Amino acid sequence: MALVRVIGAGLAGAAVAHLLHRAGRAVEVVEGDPTWGGQLRTASAAGVLYEPAGAHIFHTADTEVWELVTSLVPMLPYRHVVRTEAFDRVLSWPPQLAELRELPGWAGIERELAARPAVPRADNFESWCVGLMGETLYHEFIEGYTRKQWGEDPKNLTAAWAPKRIELRDDGYTDLFRDPHQGWPDGGYPRLVDGLLRGVPVVMGQRITIDDWDDVCAGADAVVITCALDEFFAEHLGRLPWRGVRLVNHYLPGVDHVLPCGVLNTPSPLLAHTRAIETKWMSGQTGPGTVVSYEYPGAPARHYPIDDVAGANRALARRYLDELHALPGPPRYVAGRLATYAYIDMDQVIRQAMNITRRVLDQLTTG
Ligand SMILES: Cc1cc2nc3c(=O)[nH]c(=O)nc-3n(C[C@H](O)[C@H](O)[C@H](O)COP(=O)(O)OP(=O)(O)OC[C@H]3O[C@@H](n4cnc5c(N)ncnc54)[C@H](O)[C@@H]3O)c2cc1C
Repeated sequence: MALVRVIGAGLAGAAVAHLLHRAGRAVEVVEGDPTWGGQLRTASAAGVLYEPAGAHIFHTADTEVWELVTSLVPMLPYRHVVRTEAFDRVLSWPPQLAELRELPGWAGIERELAARPAVPRADNFESWCVGLMGETLYHEFIEGYTRKQWGEDPKNLTAAWAPKRIELRDDGYTDLFRDPHQGWPDGGYPRLVDGLLRGVPVVMGQRITIDDWDDVCAGADAVVITCALDEFFAEHLGRLPWRGVRLVNHYLPGVDHVLPCGVLNTPSPLLAHTRAIETKWMSGQTGPGTVVSYEYPGAPARHYPIDDVAGANRALARRYLDELHALPGPPRYVAGRLATYAYIDMDQVIRQAMNITRRVLDQLTTG
């Protein structure tokens, strides 16, 4: 029977493997870490669940993706609320005009809002944000957070992803996401990945590089790659830069909740962390004991690809992709955040896996 080999057992690799397995195809997954799951980790401290690799909220408008996820793990009905420390208060994120009107400095903010351009200038991240909300709100809510998060002057960052992430609201809607389907897997994310990989052979602890390419291709009719391509090619064209975060997790016995909601942003330049996370809000656990995770940017990890204004990093990513496609061997497909050098939400990763699986199945059927 035709075999598909999948490199990486994070959400992308696991979803492709699951869909191919479900379609009756032979699949083998090779994972570099000793355990599967990639970014999707849920740990427990004295029974209190937390996410040591970063908070994950599942949200989607894609009903087919949602149906797949909920067929594998029950999703708790969590709606994600984020608040932020600004103007010496704890305010909504995204900022709500109704709350801002209560601030002593509202008159000045209002003048800045009245002077905004009809469309924010997309020269760079800062110009776009200032165009959306004026200097004062940008400074309080966004500038410090962005400098810490990216270790970079916001003028040097692209505005490309700003419209998806930055809003100024006047509708009283306080959930972060507007997607119809939102939740957190009952018991944590490993249950989702376990569900995807049930029945699929997986080799763990084997990190694949170009030196292993012949073995990867041996007996395979298609290969799906979800690992970082610069690492795969031993960075011979240069390293693709990523911004990483590090989580410091505090277990606090005897306390029910510490934060006012799941995530509290800390834009202040005086504090090194960007946000605090209390997974208990997502997991719905009750009773004494909680874990608060503080997120510190600047860790040597591949978390957020750096989209420079000139587009040099994305051009380098394309060169690695061209090299992959130039290798001999069976048809190969790339999926997931690492191989595509992209920040993609979980629902997009699963949608991508669905699309790639369809292409692989077409290829196997038509020979
Ligand atoms: C801090 C943070 C917070 C996030 N929060 C959210 C959120 O709230 N909501 C949301 O929808 N999405 C969120 N995401 C995105 C989400 O994590 C990703 O969409 C998803 O985990 C991507 O899965 P993946 O398989 O592409 O990558 P990964 O999870 O990185 O998995 C890749 C896998 O490949 C393995 N691998 C790597 N190299 C090799 C190799 N050479 N050989 C073999 N195996 C290899 C890795 O060990 C890993 O298991 C967040 C991401 C980050 C970084």
